[in-house]
Amino acid sequence: MTPPLPSDLAYVPFVSVANMMRLVHRIGVEEMLRGLADRIEADFRRWELFDKTPRVASHSRDGVIELMPTSDGEVYGFKYVNGHPKNTRAGLQTVTAFGLLATVDSGYPVLLSEMTVLTALRTAATSAMVARAIAPKDARTMAMIGNGAQSEFQALAMKAVCGVDTLRLYDIDRAATEKLVRNLGGAGLSLTACATPEEAMEGAEIITTCTADKQYATILTDNMVGAGVHINAIGGDCPGKTELHPDIVARSTVFTEYTPQTRIEGEIQQMPEDFAVTEMWQVLRGEAPGRTHADQITLFDGVGFAIEDFSALAYVRDAIEGTDLYEDLDMIADPDDPRDLFGMLMRAGRE
Ligand code: NAD
Repeated sequence: MTPPLPSDLAYVPFVSVANMMRLVHRIGVEEMLRGLADRIEADFRRWELFDKTPRVASHSRDGVIELMPTSDGEVYGFKYVNGHPKNTRAGLQTVTAFGLLATVDSGYPVLLSEMTVLTALRTAATSAMVARAIAPKDARTMAMIGNGAQSEFQALAMKAVCGVDTLRLYDIDRAATEKLVRNLGGAGLSLTACATPEEAMEGAEIITTCTADKQYATILTDNMVGAGVHINAIGGDCPGKTELHPDIVARSTVFTEYTPQTRIEGEIQQMPEDFAVTEMWQVLRGEAPGRTHADQITLFDGVGFAIEDFSALAYVRDAIEGTDLYEDLDMIADPDDPRDLFGMLMRAGRE
């Protein structure tokens, strides 16, 4: 995908939070989640074209700030994202983000966008794209452990892409579950608030863990997980921050996005370096098996990879074309004579 060049490269289309929300409503949340899942899958199928590197992380006591770059040779993209689990206590979000696309030809940016909302959408779309490929085909019930900012997006993507119609909910904070029930009341999902994670998992074919805690948490222990389920583990995404007991990981067939990053950040950081995993692009291209038998536990060790953000930004770049959903940002200096940057500055002082 090459974003069409704006007629004036000095102005960079900028999608604010308000415009992102208008875009989502214009398209429809579930339709957009389906579109993003297809876009991410299409880009995973072109895996070898992309530059790939584990994200660049700056860790501090309470959180992490990360840069996530990639390029397919024609377009370059990156996301800035943070993860600060204690933020919610101060009325701030755990995760916020923004991102940029540029043309590789000139290096000029062609899109700057909010990505806090877009990250929730792309993370959910990725989970559903993976579940579509490797979860039990008739899965209709999902346990949702962790009912924070990402959770409604996860639920709606599993509904829109995989046909999940029943949610069993658990959060250590009852208010988070009540918020989810309020938000998804009219969404066509059967919702049951549960008192324990064990209760939430009763009858669930898909288990999503989406909690935030900067520690080796044990949200699921081995005896809680029955045969044949698909685990969508997305909350463990940093060194020292995991959600599953290593015994579950050992019992599962594990699928990753980009393994060098997942070995640093995912559930498999608890396993030996040579612990066998399959990257999802291999499954999507039919080059490696996905789910091979009904009793198998499949585990998507999702940490979030740069190609998903690239796909999401490219989706937005296409979707805003010809609309009023962006502003032109005066972000790139544009002297009449490209070598006379100083002259442009001096002339501005005389105006
Ligand atoms: P959030 O802080 O809004 O919500 C987290 C929820 O987990 C809270 O409601 C909290 O009460 C609950 N929780 C904490 N410990 C729990 C436990 N032991 N059992 C049950 N519930 C528990 O955070 P969020 O924005 O929803 O993000 C959730 C997690 O997903 C974070 O760790 C974040 O870093 C991660 N994340 C991953 C990706 C990815 O691509 N894999 C993308 C975005 C966010």
